[in-house]
Amino acid sequence: MQTKLQSALQTVREAAKVCRSVQAQLIDADSLTKKDRSPVTVADFASQAVICSALQEAFPHIPIVGEEDANDLRQPEHQELFSKIQSFLPDWSAEAILNGIDYGNGEPAEEFWTLDPIDGTKGFLRKQQYAIALSLIRNGEPVLGVLGCPNLGEQGTLLYAIRGEGAYQTDLNSDAFTKIHVTPFKENNPVRFLESVESGHSDHGLQGTIKAAFAERAQSVRYDSQVKYAVLAQGLADVYLRLPNPSQPDYREKIWDHAAGVVIVEEAGGRVSDIFGKALDFSAGKKLHHNCGVIATSGPLQDEIVKLIQQSA
Ligand code: AMP
Ligand code: MG
Repeated sequence: MQTKLQSALQTVREAAKVCRSVQAQLIDADSLTKKDRSPVTVADFASQAVICSALQEAFPHIPIVGEEDANDLRQPEHQELFSKIQSFLPDWSAEAILNGIDYGNGEPAEEFWTLDPIDGTKGFLRKQQYAIALSLIRNGEPVLGVLGCPNLGEQGTLLYAIRGEGAYQTDLNSDAFTKIHVTPFKENNPVRFLESVESGHSDHGLQGTIKAAFAERAQSVRYDSQVKYAVLAQGLADVYLRLPNPSQPDYREKIWDHAAGVVIVEEAGGRVSDIFGKALDFSAGKKLHHNCGVIATSGPLQDEIVKLIQQSA
């Protein structure tokens, strides 16, 4: 596991550097809209190329299930976007970039990587929070998670966890990892809620009802991406609510949007379940088909929040 951890940390750091330079020079033409109408940028593609190429070289037999693929980039109308990607990866051939991205077209297996090369693309475009999220899943359980959060903290933050070995963080450009832990919850403490910036990604009405149950103790902060899991694991928040949007009842969460964050929060001493209190099941393919929404907490509040949701829904 140590070899996999070291490779994962190194490649996420490299991808973070590329994402930062893209973000510093970002213009409108640097993104396109996918079939599901979500945006994808030069940085999403470059990050996936960097990470998948490194993992494919180091662990050729482990499939990678990544969010992006290179189909759009092979179309002539996206030549300009592709040239832009090449400008951020000057030592790479066109084929190496396209193949690197497509190494991420693997299928879930007994052991596989899952990658969101930029989770929170909308946050990235707003120059706010986003995360590079990589996890190793074994027998349907995330056993290793790495989150690169370039805009979290002054230097950016790199977090990791190995199942059973705790959660750790450092600055993006430092090797000095320190162990992290969720805040031990005390009665009468403020309850700090984490929510999505994008209002379509959760049920903000129901979130309001849950917060109201804690009256003036409730505080809330909005971040894009798995940065929410990172902040919970750091002990800087208490509850992350991701309640299914009533206008999209069939939406199922994607594994790469949660795997890394879940193992980091659990190893930092927190708890994660769906809105019914059921453990997240990463063995059902590319989506969490057997779950509905996500609730993560520093621990003691988990059962109370699940109960409140069931009473309010
Ligand atoms: P966040 O920044 O936490 O709101 O999450 C960003 C992620 O939300 C993206 O990576 C998408 O995969 C995901 N997403 C897109 N639509 C929805 C939806 N309707 N409900 C929940 N998540 C969504
Ligand atoms: Mg995502």
